[in-house]
Amino acid sequence: MRVVYRCSRCGRQIAELHLPVLSEAALGLDALTPEERADIISFDAAAETVSLRSLCDRCVEGLEMDAPLAWRRVH
Ligand SMILES: [Zn+2]
Repeated sequence: MRVVYRCSRCGRQIAELHLPVLSEAALGLDALTPEERADIISFDAAAETVSLRSLCDRCVEGLEMDAPLAWRRVH
């Protein structure tokens, strides 16, 4: 099973994993609500690929610059 993390903002592929079996717990997916799962996970059975929406480092930095008050709170 191929697991691909793709940035939902710029579309860049962030990471790719190959798992012998799909373990939702190992990916942290078992903690998601059904709505979050539907939003984040897309499953392509034909290609045996699971795509997960995420954010790449560059876009996370961009978001922090867009939200300087939130950024200052964290740091
Ligand atoms: Zn990105």
